[in-house]
Amino acid sequence: MLPVPAAIGFDIDHTLLVDNKLERVAFLHLLGTLLADGGAAIGSLPVEIEAIDALLARQRSGACSIDAAVGQFATLHGRAAEPRYAASFRATALRMVDDFVIPLPGAVDTLAALRECGIALAVLSNGWNPLQQRKAERAGFHGVVLTSAELGVQKPSQAAFAALVEVLQAPPARTWYVGDDPYNDVAGAAAAGLVPVWLDAEAQPYPPELAPPARRIESLSELPMLAAAAVPS
Ligand SMILES: [Mg+2]
Repeated sequence: MLPVPAAIGFDIDHTLLVDNKLERVAFLHLLGTLLADGGAAIGSLPVEIEAIDALLARQRSGACSIDAAVGQFATLHGRAAEPRYAASFRATALRMVDDFVIPLPGAVDTLAALRECGIALAVLSNGWNPLQQRKAERAGFHGVVLTSAELGVQKPSQAAFAALVEVLQAPPARTWYVGDDPYNDVAGAAAAGLVPVWLDAEAQPYPPELAPPARRIESLSELPMLAAAAVPS
């Protein structure tokens, strides 16, 4: 049976919102700066995008910080990894939030409904602040946003979910975690003793090597009813 949630944690990207490749575009803006400073392109636009996506994937996996990724991008283009490039990238990304970030259908209303039910809410994301905080605000979330960059650990690590549970101050067995990623969100939360809810808003096949998710929703709007139908533990 599904226990009544005392608290719910959320993933951000493709769970509360989409950001339309905001960071990739911020990198492309930085590319213009690097070239204006005398740097050299490494190839065609697809080649540049491939390099950007590889750096972002490294950062999201915890292999490097976003500032280090920017520094590597600068050196790839024949420029020194000057701190001003990281500062410029961060400022550009933050400026883009209002235009690029679109809340998922039902996100704003669902968060409000859950708050009204007295359920503690927080966000846990593999990313960096204040970017993830600003993105969450666009989806109507103004509470605690934990990021891997600040925690020093990534989902699906149990330490990341332990940090979330500490913020929410609820027992793990009564803490739901809602996310779209079967590995980082669903399997990660389950391994940490939380109650995972898989958001399958994009009709993705579930990885066959993972145990099928016990709770699946197609829209965030299903969450308040799922919580109301849960049983006291
Ligand atoms: Mg996600």
